[in-house]
Amino acid sequence: MKNVEDLYPLSPMQSGLLFHSLYDPDSGYYVEQLGCLFDGRLDVAAFESAWRQLLGRHAILRTAFVWEGLDMPLQVVRRETGLPLEVSDWRALDASAREERLEAFLEADRARGFELSEAPLMRLFLFRLEEDSYRFVWTSHHLLLDGWSMALLLGELFGRYEALVRGAEAAVEPVKPYRDYIAWLQRQDSSKAEAYWRRTLAGFTAPTPLGIGRVSLGSTRQEAQYDRRQVALPADLTAGLQTFARLNRLTLGTVMQGAWALLLSRYSAEEDVVFGVTVSGRPAELAGVETMVGLFINTLPVRVHVAPGSSLLDWLRGLQEQQAELRRYEFSPLVEVQGWSEIERGQPLFESIFGFENYPLDQTLRELSGGVRVEDVRLAEKTNFPINLAIIPGHSLTLDIMYDSRRFASESVARLTGHFQTLLQAMLERPAQKLSELPMLTGRERREILGHWNETRADYPSHLCLHELFEAQARRTPEAPALVFEDERLSYIELNRRANRLAHRLRSLGVGPEVLVGIVLERSAEMVVGLLAVLKAGGAYVPLDPTYPRERLAAMLEDARPAVLLSQRQLRDALPAHAAQVVWVDADREEIEREPDHDPVNLSTPDSLAYVIYTSGSTGQPKGVLIPHRAVVNHNFAIAPAYELRPADRALQFASLSFDVAVEEIFPTWLAGACVVVRPAGALDSHRAFFDLLERERITVVNLSTPYWNELMAELARTGSSIAPSLRLAAVGGEKGLPEGFAFAQQHAGAGVRLLNVYGPTETTVTNTLYDATACGVSPEADSVPIGRPIANTEIYLLDRHLQPVPVGVGGEVYIGGDSIARGYLNRPGQTAEKFLPNPFGGERGARLYKTGDLARFHADGNMEFLGRADHQVKVRGFRIELGEIEALLSQHAGVREAVVLVREDTPGNKRVVAYVVAEDEAALSPGGLRAFIAEKLPDYMVPSAIVMLDELPLTANGKLDRRALPAPEQFTNGTTAS
Ligand code: AMP
Ligand code: MG
Repeated sequence: MKNVEDLYPLSPMQSGLLFHSLYDPDSGYYVEQLGCLFDGRLDVAAFESAWRQLLGRHAILRTAFVWEGLDMPLQVVRRETGLPLEVSDWRALDASAREERLEAFLEADRARGFELSEAPLMRLFLFRLEEDSYRFVWTSHHLLLDGWSMALLLGELFGRYEALVRGAEAAVEPVKPYRDYIAWLQRQDSSKAEAYWRRTLAGFTAPTPLGIGRVSLGSTRQEAQYDRRQVALPADLTAGLQTFARLNRLTLGTVMQGAWALLLSRYSAEEDVVFGVTVSGRPAELAGVETMVGLFINTLPVRVHVAPGSSLLDWLRGLQEQQAELRRYEFSPLVEVQGWSEIERGQPLFESIFGFENYPLDQTLRELSGGVRVEDVRLAEKTNFPINLAIIPGHSLTLDIMYDSRRFASESVARLTGHFQTLLQAMLERPAQKLSELPMLTGRERREILGHWNETRADYPSHLCLHELFEAQARRTPEAPALVFEDERLSYIELNRRANRLAHRLRSLGVGPEVLVGIVLERSAEMVVGLLAVLKAGGAYVPLDPTYPRERLAAMLEDARPAVLLSQRQLRDALPAHAAQVVWVDADREEIEREPDHDPVNLSTPDSLAYVIYTSGSTGQPKGVLIPHRAVVNHNFAIAPAYELRPADRALQFASLSFDVAVEEIFPTWLAGACVVVRPAGALDSHRAFFDLLERERITVVNLSTPYWNELMAELARTGSSIAPSLRLAAVGGEKGLPEGFAFAQQHAGAGVRLLNVYGPTETTVTNTLYDATACGVSPEADSVPIGRPIANTEIYLLDRHLQPVPVGVGGEVYIGGDSIARGYLNRPGQTAEKFLPNPFGGERGARLYKTGDLARFHADGNMEFLGRADHQVKVRGFRIELGEIEALLSQHAGVREAVVLVREDTPGNKRVVAYVVAEDEAALSPGGLRAFIAEKLPDYMVPSAIVMLDELPLTANGKLDRRALPAPEQFTNGTTAS
């Protein structure tokens, strides 16, 4: 054959590249551009000759590829090729024009690509910038060379140039051809490599999420657009890292890779992370491999277990060993490795690549004869991973990040570089530290997130109790309306007197501080009078909803053991057996009316208990949250101004007393001297009835669960009607708010209604953060409406599993501190200790944090975004449910072998509780019977809307419950559904 020196197969890496290049010829992925500046008078003729010598010596530079009509592509080494060197004169251009021209050139050159069957797959350009200055660009196809090889070639080029200019002989060491590497590859046992990769990646099924992306994984398949950020690490940090590595016999690459693994683990909240690494791919056992020129470099997955309890040094050593093992299989092509993994087809193995680039590029920086200095040597490569981190060695290490700007905001990447540096610094300073304890936030971030955003101190009368505030208001505005229920209207003084009489009565029965009084009353003015009276007597009220099943009430009574119950005669039969004294607000009316009507002497302190509210408990029993006066007084003083409550306001008391929202509807309203309008039971009969109530009572403020509010808005839209013109504020919350829902609500409620997204668990007194969606707007692209920032005397911490604060953009669990935190759970010291922790961030002595189980992340402006739950607590129609409680109850049934309960949203917006049950004896258990069993014990909202009987629970390959394999009730044809 003419002009063919050699012919041999491709390396697996080359095959992969060739395949991709042919498949997507315009991508420009594999066009490499190396550039540098020659400062001085370059001898262009000598430069050209030096290149000719290089082409003569290195077969790979004369290589092209053939595949058509072949079973397997081959590389062809030509005996001879031309030298594609172009020289242009840019001296007439000024500096900025040259910049522009160069940019445009580089882009066009990349786009031009290569005809892969024609050698040489490279081009050379010299642009004369000034008399004594040239910009050099060397474009080549990645099929030939990697960065390391380019650096070697450049070094050799300069040696030859030197010799030519000086008329000396260049040293001619024999070259080891790329063919030798191909031969070595053919001797490798690929089954061993396969076994290694299968073992290494076993059990890893989803790519490690980066956590900080703007778009969720795999959503839009738009073309990537890359941005770059380079940060030079401070020289002392660089020096420190070098010493650290040397002293501990680690490579610098291991140390850097360790920092990246840590960062990724923190960002993704996963202990088992996988990321890509670029490896040199030069097998150590191949003699002289470090001087070989060709394509060796590879990208492969590294799987790191970031065990939180490991000490840093031990862990880094382990990492180093792991890398040594990986080196033996560096030749495996990524596509094959991917195929051996358990990651689903079509999903990437990893989203980030980390490279420690020790190409000898800086060795090519030198001074050539004639005073020509080689400067600014740079290799531009394109990547196809969302984020690509490279550490460039040097006097100062440089962190070089290329990222897809559609996936990551530049601020997120800027923060990332800060975290990386903080981790490195911490590694140096505390090598014996546990991994979980290494700090990642910069000092500035810590001050902002932990300090500045939590600067919520505000004065409030922390020496007063709730009823004292009411009494003070009653003195200020005795005649103002305080309470409305149907036709009954009470002024402040009337309400105060009625509550006083009942309070005196309660006192006479022994009610005082820390004494619990159950309230079992239907919706009425008396219900509100009752709770005020309990507080005035010094006790704490425990709402016991008379519509709950007897057994539920019995469990609550059994747990709380209230000394006294406030009830009505007609509810007598609803009451389970109990040991409390009962005050019948109806039957005992005359007696109560004989009591004095002055304020009882206050016996309570701000630390005294004000109420106990039961919430669903994962262990199968509801748990009582203990709220002291101070918590509510603080809450009221924060909420009244936030809601801009005024004496003219008329706030709807909508919620059942069993939910703490009722506290927010009542007390801040009174604090403002405004009126509480108690919803009559009938207002729930229809949306129309609800809207009529708003109009009739000229309601100005409502506090509703997000799903109910959305239903109301949908009804407005459906009927084309408008909401009561009096309404000015809707505080909605309890569940994640969607941007489209809020926008829709704003549109239908009108601009005059201010919409707030409010957030807070019962354990920290109703509301802790809020977001003014009307004033601050809601981004339609966001996943949810922010839940905002903390209210007065409230602190928010977003922490990882090891109580380390997470940075902006990274998800963490919400911990709440401040003055509105509960005392704990009634009779449950274990659960109290688990959920109420000492505040590790200081605060006052004895300060505590409540661990909410909610996941959220901060936006850069300090607003929080709700992300979901860390456990099996759910919200359905605004009701808080521990699925574990329903499961525990089902398991108590003798006929049930196994039960799983979950929330399904098979049609968007329609969440349902569904139970899956495996019976001991199928014939003996009917869904209907099981449902009745449950309904006797749980409030309606906790009773599953469907019970599906299964022969067995579906399991995944690793024996865990396969939730996705559980059938939707309707689709289930083979079994029985009760609903
Ligand atoms: P509860 O104790 O019944 O008030 O329920 C508190 C829980 O409801 C929180 O821990 C959250 O999981 C959820 N929640 C409350 N408000 C919101 C909100 N605005 N957005 C998202 N979830 C919320
Ligand atoms: Mg709440």
